[in-house]
Amino acid sequence: MDKINIFWHRRDLRYHDNVGLYYALDTDYPVLPVFIFDTNILDDLSDKTDARVTFIHDQLKALDEVYRNNGSGLKVCYGTPEDVYMRLSEEYEIVGVYTNRDYEPYAKKRDATIAKYLKGKGIGFYSFKDQVIFEQGEILTDQEQPYKVFTPYKNKWLEKWSNLELESYNSEQKLQALWSADVDPLMSLEDIGFQRSTIAIPEPSVSENLLKEYSEKRDIPGENGTSRLGIHFRFGTISIRQHAKRASELSDVWLNELIWREFYMMILGHYPEVVDHAFKSKYEQIPWTNNESHFQKWCEGKTGYPIVDAGMRELNATGYMHNRVRMVVASFLTKHLLIDWRWGERYFAEKLLDFELSSNNGGWQWAAGTGTDAQPYFRVFNPYSQQEKFDPQFKYIKKWVPEFDTAEYPNPIVPHKEARQRAIDTYKEALS
Ligand code: FAD
Repeated sequence: MDKINIFWHRRDLRYHDNVGLYYALDTDYPVLPVFIFDTNILDDLSDKTDARVTFIHDQLKALDEVYRNNGSGLKVCYGTPEDVYMRLSEEYEIVGVYTNRDYEPYAKKRDATIAKYLKGKGIGFYSFKDQVIFEQGEILTDQEQPYKVFTPYKNKWLEKWSNLELESYNSEQKLQALWSADVDPLMSLEDIGFQRSTIAIPEPSVSENLLKEYSEKRDIPGENGTSRLGIHFRFGTISIRQHAKRASELSDVWLNELIWREFYMMILGHYPEVVDHAFKSKYEQIPWTNNESHFQKWCEGKTGYPIVDAGMRELNATGYMHNRVRMVVASFLTKHLLIDWRWGERYFAEKLLDFELSSNNGGWQWAAGTGTDAQPYFRVFNPYSQQEKFDPQFKYIKKWVPEFDTAEYPNPIVPHKEARQRAIDTYKEALS
């Protein structure tokens, strides 16, 4: 039996500029690329036409094709990672497993379990930094503490960035080191209990023009002014190093957004309790009213607040919502309706193509006022003035709420002025 190394793809579904793949291909052993459809994750998805699963499947197909053109193939397995590695270690003589680090709590636990299992079999487990420019321990205060506020974090990030010699990992030029093997054909979506989604996925590219105009247009939901690259960053179909470099050449404002992404990953890494709890613990005391019928109306985009409804309908139809509108709908749910931010966070997690635990949690806690750098509780977004400022011609609203301004459109489910005051009073009392 050939001795081989495995490269384990997870949220890095590309063969170019891939750090872990580069190092795996750089060893003396041929490499078998592997992906696991993890039942711990899939079983939790209630929508069996989930667009993200379709997206992953499409990416695997493309990777498999490239690997087959190089005499190998992508081995796609189905099951829990523990069971899969038990099978793989019986089937092959594995020297080492190479992979890129993933910073979510589930992923960290999974990797620790697999590394331990492999160690018991005398197999190495090697993980690399690939999905971020700087990992959580690399950007610390002068006292070696994690930052809790974005701006000083960003300043330190930029300082390190300006001294960084970005390396390029040309894994795409090393594919001749893949293992020449007869790999089973890729399983279908139906084989894993899913069906194809009809939701379209944006292209993995962003034009120079868009980046140059980003600072002007990014806040206008009726314009195509943002990159729509979220899902590609999420699943690593594009390289963060290449995009951060491009950002620093073309748009500091866009680079700033990529730094937000790393900021929230760092927060989740240092403070994993934010998954279920307010970052600022005293905010745990807010007595949410959690009115189920209000929540339902919010989900469906039937609140009678046009910008909120447009956002929710965009999300339901496309798996995307513009950032400005995400802030408005999240503020509306937590402040106007006094519904627990975790309800909204969960709904976004089900629907967003670009769902990222760290950014979603950070965005929700920011809007609810419970998180880092949060909106102070007495600042409640006014949905009407947000519309006047960011959608003055009702372009976005008319696209998603065609019955807006007709008798069919519902009245507001709560009156703005009273709801705003109730939010302020409730927060004030809970925090005093
Ligand atoms: P662009 O504006 O082109 O930005 C480029 C990339 O930078 C994004 O793709 C994303 O990776 C990153 N980015 C941009 N803004 C932020 C931000 N504020 N925080 C962290 N990263 C950012 N972003 C997610 O990637 N996943 C989520 O699940 C998510 N949930 C959110 C929930 C709420 C309540 C809020 C207010 C924001 C959330 N965001 C989330 C942040 C932001 O809305 C999206 O990243 C952005 O709208 C994606 O569109 P784009 O790809 O066109 O981004």
